[in-house]
Amino acid sequence: MKFGFDIDDTLIDLRKHAFHIYNDKLQMNVGLDIFEALDTMEIHQAFGLTKEEGGKLWHSLRDEIYFSGCSPFPHAREVLQQLVAQGHEVYYITARDREHSERTKMWMIENGFPVAEGHFYCGMSDSEKVHIIANLGLDYYVDDKPKVLETLLHLPTKVCVKDRSYNQHVNLPRITSWQELPELAGLAT
Ligand SMILES: [Mg+2]
Repeated sequence: MKFGFDIDDTLIDLRKHAFHIYNDKLQMNVGLDIFEALDTMEIHQAFGLTKEEGGKLWHSLRDEIYFSGCSPFPHAREVLQQLVAQGHEVYYITARDREHSERTKMWMIENGFPVAEGHFYCGMSDSEKVHIIANLGLDYYVDDKPKVLETLLHLPTKVCVKDRSYNQHVNLPRITSWQELPELAGLAT
């Protein structure tokens, strides 16, 4: 089968990583309880920043956020490696800017994710993901972002949501731990 995955906040814990970097740069000590309770994807409110200030800060720190030590979610790498070992195809579809494509791909490889030639898509808008997913004919696709998930509901692809504080209203099969994916997809573990 063909499996597709978003990267940020689906396979790796990017917002939490950024949250630590914000605390460090702003010399603040905002608690993780605040982070866990955020009902928005953006994290700037937790630091008392406006949308504009938050956007500027994110942009100025983007390389550090993307390419320093962000943690993959538990079991994400192992489960994807297992899929590949079982003969399934794994694709990545990330809306990070195209300028970060090669470096992001290398980061994923260096951090233990299986990335096959031609299976890495980067630099599309949220609304363009649907075309890539449809053209690839994915059997399964997992993302965290409500705005993206909404565009996929007419596809034959089985769409799943990676459980996060800001997507609790999304009514789709939900992956809380990556260990749940094989069973959800009807695979032997
Ligand atoms: Mg995401």
